[in-house]
Amino acid sequence: MSMPTTPTTLDRFLTPAHRALWQAADDFAAQEIQPRVERMEGAPHRVDRKIARLLAGRRWFGVTVPEAFGGMEAGHVAKTILVHRLARVSGAVAAILQASLIPVAALLYYGTAEQHTTLLPGVADGSVLMSIAVTEPDQGGHIGGMETTAEWDGRAWVLTGVKAHVGNSHIADLHVVVARTAPASTRTSRALTAFLVRGDQRGVNLVRHSGKLGLHGFSYGQITFDRVRVSPENVLGDVGQGFEAAQSSSILYGRPNLTAVSLGLHETAVSLTAKYVSNRPRYNGKLADLSVIQDRLGQMSARLIMARILAYHAVDMLDRGLPCDDELLTAKAPGHDLASETGNDAMQLHAANGLDESLSIGRVWLDMQTTYAPAGTGEVQRRRLAENLLRQEDEAASKCTPWSVLHTSRAQPPVPDRPVSV
Ligand SMILES: Cc1cc2nc3c(=O)[nH]c(=O)nc-3n(C[C@H](O)[C@H](O)[C@H](O)COP(=O)(O)OP(=O)(O)OC[C@H]3O[C@@H](n4cnc5c(N)ncnc54)[C@H](O)[C@@H]3O)c2cc1C
Repeated sequence: MSMPTTPTTLDRFLTPAHRALWQAADDFAAQEIQPRVERMEGAPHRVDRKIARLLAGRRWFGVTVPEAFGGMEAGHVAKTILVHRLARVSGAVAAILQASLIPVAALLYYGTAEQHTTLLPGVADGSVLMSIAVTEPDQGGHIGGMETTAEWDGRAWVLTGVKAHVGNSHIADLHVVVARTAPASTRTSRALTAFLVRGDQRGVNLVRHSGKLGLHGFSYGQITFDRVRVSPENVLGDVGQGFEAAQSSSILYGRPNLTAVSLGLHETAVSLTAKYVSNRPRYNGKLADLSVIQDRLGQMSARLIMARILAYHAVDMLDRGLPCDDELLTAKAPGHDLASETGNDAMQLHAANGLDESLSIGRVWLDMQTTYAPAGTGEVQRRRLAENLLRQEDEAASKCTPWSVLHTSRAQPPVPDRPVSV
């Protein structure tokens, strides 16, 4: 296989195996996704199931699953490469991949040996597609306000509530659902529990998928849970550990995944715009000859380089087991802001033609809006950065273990306690 031309900015982060994966993702995007983009875009109410099967065929849902369970065990830089390169061609396809990778973190970090043996081989071959259901319609990003409850009836947990914006809601086989298992007076950090709930269980109902702005083909809809019975074997982690499971998945997988979606879209916005202004006639030359246009292009190029460095630097640190909570935050929130500014420039430089649905820039711009909210909105990420900064000034609080370190030990591949056939 020929090696791709990767940006030199990223040289220090990429091994030969990463470069081969980069090429494989680009080839897949060109052969399998590009021909589908127009159809997906034209059908906002449709959920694309075929794409997930194609991604599963590459075993990419198992990019971080240990080899012992049939996964690629390729790490966080590899995961970013896959999501980033697919997002260049379709934000929706990248979203399908990344949404089912987030709950894998919860399963890897909090699952029992039995849960690993039973579920990870299916995750790796894509036959068990996962989702993570935390957000609720009224509470949004306020996990502590969660109203979904799970009550123990002596034999099983009985789960009732509504989850919203669940990535891959309509195609997932297995949902990680976080619910309240303690009275409202209990601290959030001990009040929630994560459960493994099959999509076909009695009482699990999907609210009809409606088209949204952006990411056409990807479902991130509502799921209702009406007295769904969950046996104790399907509790993920300890009772009371649900907040930790949700937070760590979001911080260590969610943030870099959304950063990678944003980066892919950012790259496409820059290249579409450079092409557009280079071809559009003006006076005796092209729009690109005007210095004011070049000034804008220069800013777009600089932002893209910054976003690339932020994205890959953070996941490289994660792969090395270094504390990098702030780097993950910075890659996600300011990374989104950089992309968003570029998206606005791109639309303005396309001017009226940018509003023409036959040009891709409008789709890319809309898809860019979707990376702001998930895995923590900008306000939430900036607040966390400020809290971490202030904590450094406080000697007692500064001893708090960062999430990226807390899970380094857990992130070691679990070893199966009996042979696994895949
Ligand atoms: C594409 C996509 C995929 C998603 N995938 C999933 C998924 O797989 N699973 C899942 O559970 N959820 C998912 N979500 C939901 C996502 O996690 C939420 O959108 C996010 O938590 C914010 O909730 P909200 O949108 O309801 O906004 P709200 O929480 O209602 O916030 C509204 C506004 O108020 C601000 N705000 C809120 N609280 C504060 C505060 N304390 N301080 C300062 N500002 C504040 C926010 O920053 C925001 O600007 C997804 C969302 C999208 C768009």
